[in-house]
Amino acid sequence: MERFDIVIIGAGIAGASVAWHMAPHARIVLLEAEAHPGYHSTGRSAAFYAETYGGPAVQPLTTGSKAFFMAPPEGFASVPLVRPRGALHVAPPGREAAIASMVADFQPLSPAVQPLTCEAVLAMAPVLRPERVVGGVWDPDCQDIDVAALHQGFLAGARRQGALLRCAARVTGLHRQDGLWQVATTAGDVSADIVVNAAGAWADEVAQLAGVAPLGLSPRRRTVLVCKPDGPPIDPAMPLLLDIDETWYAKPDAGALWVSPADETPMPPCDVQPDELDLAITIDRLQAATYWTVPRIERSWSGLRSFTPSRTPHYGFASEAPGFFWCAGQGGFGIQTAPAAGALCRDLLLGVMSS
Ligand SMILES: Cc1cc2nc3c(=O)[nH]c(=O)nc-3n(C[C@H](O)[C@H](O)[C@H](O)COP(=O)(O)OP(=O)(O)OC[C@H]3O[C@@H](n4cnc5c(N)ncnc54)[C@H](O)[C@@H]3O)c2cc1C
Repeated sequence: MERFDIVIIGAGIAGASVAWHMAPHARIVLLEAEAHPGYHSTGRSAAFYAETYGGPAVQPLTTGSKAFFMAPPEGFASVPLVRPRGALHVAPPGREAAIASMVADFQPLSPAVQPLTCEAVLAMAPVLRPERVVGGVWDPDCQDIDVAALHQGFLAGARRQGALLRCAARVTGLHRQDGLWQVATTAGDVSADIVVNAAGAWADEVAQLAGVAPLGLSPRRRTVLVCKPDGPPIDPAMPLLLDIDETWYAKPDAGALWVSPADETPMPPCDVQPDELDLAITIDRLQAATYWTVPRIERSWSGLRSFTPSRTPHYGFASEAPGFFWCAGQGGFGIQTAPAAGALCRDLLLGVMSS
């Protein structure tokens, strides 16, 4: 049986970032159930970086990833990982308190975050219906992320440093014997000192294979549709528009608009697809908040955002199982936090490996 230092289960952004950070330090195999890495949540995101997104508990990992996005290591990617976008959180009448509370939550770590008057919001986004705006919060550092470049950068960099990537290798069994994890997969068995569980929506199922107590992860469907609305032309420089209570968001992309109803429907782990009602709700919310009307949907997709009960990600060793490491619960922020999260996992893993 092939022997490794670390088996990483799942080659989405979480597993790929840990592989990249750990490849210089350990013999690694990355096991992915699907034929292509990135098939699930990682390939289905809305691709933005916003320090004001995901809640104050997540902000340190997002802010901690900023330097990597802005200036990745030499040779990491052949294109920039991010492009400036800006995020405008729009408060409707009655939600004045949400503006002050958001600024208080995020400004200490991100001083550029500012409250905006109704006039300033409408000047930035004249497509908004004025009667639906009382003010807003401006996050100028929000960026569009080139998710494919980030993901491939991690995978290719890890492989250059000796890590192996095995696709169509679903993990079906995990048990510990003679101080090693024995890992059964649909593409053959391997053994390792450490198992990293980066299986996204399936992370609790993987834990159960190993006899480890689940985290209580809740995978939730999130939908995005692409349209070319009638009405005011789409300004390609328009900021990401988000309702301050996250009931919808929209951003321009390649002459079209990506719109989400910010749905969070609990689902079992699966290859999730959009629900017709969510698509109708998306159009309704966009049309109520803006002067746009949607003649038809060009395309749509859904993905799973998996949350722990506290809605913060879980990184670290399981107390009841030696060598079983959690890297799960990245919710709606797993792309924007991946560089710092991978570095955190590296430090935690190296702490144990050297002790
Ligand atoms: C619509 C939408 C919009 C989003 N927008 C953003 C955004 O703008 N910014 C942001 O930062 N985040 C965003 N997210 C969240 C982000 O996409 C996720 O947090 C992130 O992709 C999670 O990465 P992951 O590697 O944990 O999961 P995944 O990408 O799902 O990877 C897990 C992998 O594990 C594999 N796997 C599962 N079980 C096994 C097994 N038994 N054996 C082997 N492999 C297995 C799966 O096949 C899968 O490829 C969004 C998500 C959605 C759905």
